[in-house]
Amino acid sequence: MLTGRERAVAEVDLAAIRHNVRRLSRDLPPGGQHCAVVKAFGYGHGAVPVARAALAAGSSWLGVATATEAEELREAGLDAPIMVFGPMTGAELALAVAAGADVVAWSGPFVEEARRLGARVHVKFDSGMGRLGVNEAGSRELCAAAAAGPSRLVGLMSHFATADEADTAFYEYQLGRFTRLAGELRRAYPDLLRHTANSAATLRSRASHFDIVRTGIALYGLAPANDDPFKDDLWPAMRLTSYIAGVRHVQPGDSVGYGRRFIAEAPARIGIVPIGYADGIARALTNRGDVLVAGRRCRITGTISMDQLTVRLPDDGGAPGDEVVFLGAAQGQRILCEDVARLLGTINYEIVCDVGARVVRRYAHEQETDEEAALWSAAREAGERARASETRTEGETG
Ligand SMILES: *Cc1c(COP(=O)(O)O)cnc(C)c1O
Repeated sequence: MLTGRERAVAEVDLAAIRHNVRRLSRDLPPGGQHCAVVKAFGYGHGAVPVARAALAAGSSWLGVATATEAEELREAGLDAPIMVFGPMTGAELALAVAAGADVVAWSGPFVEEARRLGARVHVKFDSGMGRLGVNEAGSRELCAAAAAGPSRLVGLMSHFATADEADTAFYEYQLGRFTRLAGELRRAYPDLLRHTANSAATLRSRASHFDIVRTGIALYGLAPANDDPFKDDLWPAMRLTSYIAGVRHVQPGDSVGYGRRFIAEAPARIGIVPIGYADGIARALTNRGDVLVAGRRCRITGTISMDQLTVRLPDDGGAPGDEVVFLGAAQGQRILCEDVARLLGTINYEIVCDVGARVVRRYAHEQETDEEAALWSAAREAGERARASETRTEGETG
């Protein structure tokens, strides 16, 4: 009987979350705020522990997609400002307002209802995303309506469609439109908070930062363009593991699993791993995905089932009880979420969001150590010195 671990575990390193918040806040303008986007169960990582860690590292806003997500944060005792990004029915709007969350508006009737409820409103300007939002004229009207009370006009926001793409033309177009409208409306409403940057824009250019940046994917240490998070000094927070529950020795002609999609040509060792597609290991990784067993890469071999899967073990490695890594590092080897996403023709966002509800979330480094705090204050001071000398240089040349 194996003891000591759950069948499938997503370990979330909260020190990595804190690091990423500080990394993302590093280049913000004076007074610039960080909104930690924790919608969709914190992109699979767990919204409440991630939100706590982000706030501890200096985030001042939390972003969610739904009223219920806002309510869950409040029930956990978090009292930071929250914005709810998504469309809401009347009932959901009432729930969000009751939870003390800010709401996002892009229609007259919605603003009227928000006014009736005394909501705090951010108007959504569509600068080119082509999804939610209204144009310049519509934004002016909605801002005026929300500011007329008893609701409050809090912010003007927009969202980028291509901030993660190498071609920056459309990004620059959206940024230009937002910059012009935000400047105009800020003169009309001096307290207006302007925000448009997602993770990709936050990393791409300071011109996108304005008053608040809203970062999701990079908060979790994942690369917005699905390439290499380490090049931007982001630390992946999630490590997804299971273990070898048993080893089978197959002979030539023996098959493994549904549909007999692996038939042994030679004697082989097959490890049985109690994690499946219901836990978020995409069935399309059958015979294609890799895992780490004791630091060695092994192929997922045979059809992935709902609750378990099988891997081809080395002839001389892999024993019952060994850890099996799906995302994360072991003995100097690493499987990046981005690599798995590329193999599946999708993006890292979907990989972590798909990690199933029955995968146990475990949190590491809940408390910041003195060492971590000291490292960060040293980094902050170095950053301030660098900015000060940059400003001097600009002053000299300009
Ligand atoms: C999800 C979301 C974000 C975060 O986007 P990332 O690409 O994960 O940084 C920001 N703003 C809005 C409105 C969102 O819905």
